[in-house]
Amino acid sequence: MGGSRETRAVIGTRRLKEAMDRPTNLRIITVANQKGGVGKTTTTVNLAAALSMGGLRILVIDLDPQGNASTAFGSERRENPGIYEVLLGEKTMAECVQRVKGFPSLECIYSNTALAQAEIELVPMVAREMRLKEAIEEFIAVRAAESFDYIFIDCPPSLGLLTINALTAAKEMLVPIQCEYYALEGLSQLLKIFELVKKRLNPELKLSTFVLTMFDGRTRLANDVADEIRKHYPDELIDIPIPRAVRVSEAPGFNQTVMTYDASSPGAIAYMLVARELAKRAKAFDSNVVSINYKREGEIA
Ligand code: ADP
Ligand code: MG
Repeated sequence: MGGSRETRAVIGTRRLKEAMDRPTNLRIITVANQKGGVGKTTTTVNLAAALSMGGLRILVIDLDPQGNASTAFGSERRENPGIYEVLLGEKTMAECVQRVKGFPSLECIYSNTALAQAEIELVPMVAREMRLKEAIEEFIAVRAAESFDYIFIDCPPSLGLLTINALTAAKEMLVPIQCEYYALEGLSQLLKIFELVKKRLNPELKLSTFVLTMFDGRTRLANDVADEIRKHYPDELIDIPIPRAVRVSEAPGFNQTVMTYDASSPGAIAYMLVARELAKRAKAFDSNVVSINYKREGEIA
């Protein structure tokens, strides 16, 4: 039985019976946290996969030189042109974008090994913080007829130029919080960068979403971390903790998300519920009257 699972390839297309809410406007969400291993990539690929299964049109941009999102989406050719060439202006996104197998409408701009140099090569460039934003805008214009509902940007574990490009290009920041020791340490650093980008480069940017990852409800610590986030970010937290689950961690080893690897496992179900909730909350961004970040905006400025 185990053997058959391990050799199973992704065949056909996954689609949910009940479609998810479609946002009126494109949502561009940067998944950021400068700590490594907190679940940025896992959250990015599984939310993207789930929303795609819910009938929405999704683009994922893998902005981490480690390319873990690319791996989870089945990309193995890491020397192909990808996001590195886009940032340097050598290729357009339209030339690099690829469809992800097994999903109705999921595309990815893959990361490649060369991206590791980008952080340094971008430094002397003109408008170096705006390069991803400009590339996305150009791509959206090219694809006008076949537009996206969501663009997710998966960040590297640092607060360098790549992450700053991602925050400058986005409308929202999603922060995965691993319910572990020191989870909240470093959050203030991330928020400082967020505020700087918002002030200087991207006034539209909102801290819209927190997701609790690798949650082990049996431990006091995990519950304490969750309570802390509930207290400080009651509106931004999607209070559906993603359990620490073995299927979630196995999936990338088979070039898959957990949505195709084991869709009925607890981790997959939790990510599906979080995706549905994220989609529901799009309404808050569609309306000019109520914005879930309104009351906090004054504090941040
Ligand atoms: P980041 O992108 O922040 O560095 P990852 O998403 O790559 O973090 O996750 C770090 C590691 O933890 C990976 O090996 C991943 O497979 C594993 N992982 C993430 N979420 C879960 C989960 N809910 N249960 C078990 N393992 C997980
Ligand atoms: Mg990652």
